Amino acid sequence: MKNEIIVCENLTKTFTIGDNKLCAVNDVSFTLTEREFVSIIGPSGSGKTTLLNLIGTLEVPTSGKLLINGTDLGSFTAAELSNFRRRNLGFVFQFFNLVDGLTSFENIELPLIFDSVPFEERKKRVDSLLKDFELEYLRNKFPEEISSGERQRVAIMRALINEPSLLLADEPTGNLDTTTGHAVLSLLEELNKERGTSILMVTHDISAAKRALRTLHMIDGKIAYDQRISNDIAKMKQEGKEI
Ligand code: ADP
Ligand code: MG
Repeated sequence: MKNEIIVCENLTKTFTIGDNKLCAVNDVSFTLTEREFVSIIGPSGSGKTTLLNLIGTLEVPTSGKLLINGTDLGSFTAAELSNFRRRNLGFVFQFFNLVDGLTSFENIELPLIFDSVPFEERKKRVDSLLKDFELEYLRNKFPEEISSGERQRVAIMRALINEPSLLLADEPTGNLDTTTGHAVLSLLEELNKERGTSILMVTHDISAAKRALRTLHMIDGKIAYDQRISNDIAKMKQEGKEI
């Protein structure tokens, strides 16, 4: 049986602003198993980022249960959560969030410095990652010297340096032109296939969402539709439809 990487049970997040309550994530339940690449699509304000942040333990749920890699995070302290995040999760954002004054190498090694990994080991790991993805040419460049697509590749390498079992990406192509965006999606597909990293990716671009085999459609804080594309295609084939 495949391992469950994410288990959400009745996950809810309510924000209180003055006298008003806003339910950004409303009773969401789903499971993501190892090696899955799942996209979340939905209109602006439908709760995609809030759901991703709950799963990334960056936000605390109002109610419901969350297990990551089989660990119930409900009773973790802030320090425990921070350690857990660093060891198990990788984050990729729309605006890359690289540190301007640091080279690609230095940006990618940052999570290892937080874990007090010695320099020789950091060098070995960063260089081997850059080699695997044929990105050595970016090693000594600063963010301002490289294109936005290259910056996102460096940000993905930083997210991967601790070999997380789960990568969380919030609009990773949202700030890229279509061609560059597709290249970044191919990189995500590659690491999902080759390394077995599970991916949960938020997007509002339907063509980006389709790169995943499963898409969760969010509306008003709820998963309105859980679509497994491979099954749909199989069904269409059965029905003799053209694909
Ligand atoms: P999406 O990523 O789908 O655009 P969000 O998860 O960012 O949606 O937001 C869902 C809803 O929750 C929106 O109405 C947004 O205004 C609200 N929201 C998100 N974060 C906060 C916050 N920190 N405080 C108050 N309201 C918030
Ligand atoms: Mg968002």
